Amino acid sequence: MMRRLPLAAFVALVALLPVALPASAEFYVTLANYIGLYALVALGLVLLTGVGGLTSFGQAAFVGIGAYTTAWLSTAFGWSPWLTLVVALAATTAVALFLGFVTLRMGGHYLPLGTIAWGLSLYFLFGNIEAFGGHTGLGGIPPVSLGGVELRSGREFFYLIWAALLLAVVTTRNLLDSRDGRAIRALKGGVVMAEAMGVNTAWYKIVIFTVAAQFACVSGWLYAHLQRFVNPTPFSLTQGIEYLFMAVIGGVGHVWGALLGAGLVTILKQWLQDLLPKLLGQSGNFEVIVFGLVMIFVLHRARDGLWPALSARVEHLWPAPAEAGCVADAEPLPRREVPASGETILEVREVSKHFGGLAANSEISFGVRAGEVMALIGPNGAGKSTLFNCISGVNPPSDGEVRFLGRRVDRLPAREIARRGMSRTFQHVRLLPAMSVLDNVAIGAHLRGRRHFVHAACRLDRDEERRLRCEAARQIARVGLGEHLFDAAGSLPLGKQRIVEIARALAADPCLLLLDEPAAGLRYLEKQALADLLRRLRAEGMGILLVEHDMDFVMGLADRVVVMEFGEKLAEGLPQQIQEDPKVLEAYLGGVE
Ligand code: ADP
Ligand code: MG
Repeated sequence: MMRRLPLAAFVALVALLPVALPASAEFYVTLANYIGLYALVALGLVLLTGVGGLTSFGQAAFVGIGAYTTAWLSTAFGWSPWLTLVVALAATTAVALFLGFVTLRMGGHYLPLGTIAWGLSLYFLFGNIEAFGGHTGLGGIPPVSLGGVELRSGREFFYLIWAALLLAVVTTRNLLDSRDGRAIRALKGGVVMAEAMGVNTAWYKIVIFTVAAQFACVSGWLYAHLQRFVNPTPFSLTQGIEYLFMAVIGGVGHVWGALLGAGLVTILKQWLQDLLPKLLGQSGNFEVIVFGLVMIFVLHRARDGLWPALSARVEHLWPAPAEAGCVADAEPLPRREVPASGETILEVREVSKHFGGLAANSEISFGVRAGEVMALIGPNGAGKSTLFNCISGVNPPSDGEVRFLGRRVDRLPAREIARRGMSRTFQHVRLLPAMSVLDNVAIGAHLRGRRHFVHAACRLDRDEERRLRCEAARQIARVGLGEHLFDAAGSLPLGKQRIVEIARALAADPCLLLLDEPAAGLRYLEKQALADLLRRLRAEGMGILLVEHDMDFVMGLADRVVVMEFGEKLAEGLPQQIQEDPKVLEAYLGGVE
């Protein structure tokens, strides 16, 4: 309840603003309207760029689609603004899906460049279509009516803008605090991991791209009915860049950063526009220059934007309540049917992997049964991690076959293999360091949830979300990290981070577990606890494929061992046989004494 107080105070303040301001202060109402419109677009960028890591310079073009769709349909055909809103959203979705499919698969700088290209082309399109009034624009746009009242004044319109903005803020927060939200947060820096946990990252990129475009579209629709006139200028690339500035200055990773950034930039520009000509005694666009310098200064002092810097100060006065309640006991999630112990679940047949001229794996074959621990050992660079990537679909083999539960999987994407019940950890830990241990592990349970982003945005996923978080908490307790549930994953020592990865893999309810050097960095007692855990999992019928360098650990635990060297399989057998194999001793010790 206390947590909601600042929000309630903010909403009350917004609601009172038009009432409290005298008639002479119309200017401030206009300013607040523009802040609301800009914040809506910047909010989309928080989701897209700040959270999802996808940079767009082209949001102004989506604002333009919203504005021009309604301007044209309502003036030329007399359509009701509410109907044009639906059409504008549909058009935006279509354009966003098309552009998304074309540009989102291109990594690196292609996406930002692509957004610049469509920002430019849509701007010129608006200016060159005769029906849209060319560069002169379109006037006579009708006002929006709400409950029989025509919203003609800025004060009346204010409520519509800010209601839309607050609704967008709430749905965005809901979306981020959900199963889909975790997947979206993994897009920035965690794509390989997320795919291996069953997340369709390409789909989530399209989702956030479309949502951000829709926010921009609504902003454009509102703008057109506030101004009752549109021309291409506000939808230019320059404005697209400015939206990005707003989000970045406010704090691009934070929902409220969008509001703060839009507010600051709008007020600052207005103020500079008034002040500078007076100071310099001549008119000109000096505010652009000063504004640029201020940008650089702010970003130099607060790289993540102003919202996180401010909220860190406020946290002292207003500490966030503990999250503990969120993992209260919930009904356990349904479990997968496990194959009978002793049944072969994984078959690796003559798998090869080449990196250019290097044969990292050549014709490796072996099998893993349910209810056994198979160890994969060999010197550094032998090709063990490469083989893990081949088996789990992270980096598919160049040649050969991988069969899992009787089906060929070597041509499937990692997420499809994960869906079939294989789960893994990574040698180089792949956690989302700023996210809590609980959230990280809950990503592992992604495929066990059914609710999608519309449910999440409307808060219809709470029951399932409790079960997912409860499952994650159970796995974390199982691996012995119960006291770290709400710690940032990146704050744990590396050895414990590896254990978090095991909990994440277990949250998927796998029947085959691939562990790449899980005991590295653990102390003696921690290693023993890990060995105990793996024995229990084995007893439950899980198959475990394990890469490990600690020979005491391996030999005390493994049922069978495969030895690799220079990408080839050197030997396979019981731990005792392997320890006495002259070829293995040669590889490890440089010969039998
Ligand atoms: P291990 O896990 O047994 O220590 P790896 O599978 O990591 O060995 O590496 C095997 C060989 O493949 C090494 O020589 C490594 O440099 C090379 N290698 C691994 N991944 C790649 C890659 N993505 N591109 C090129 N070479 C790679
Ligand atoms: Mg390795």
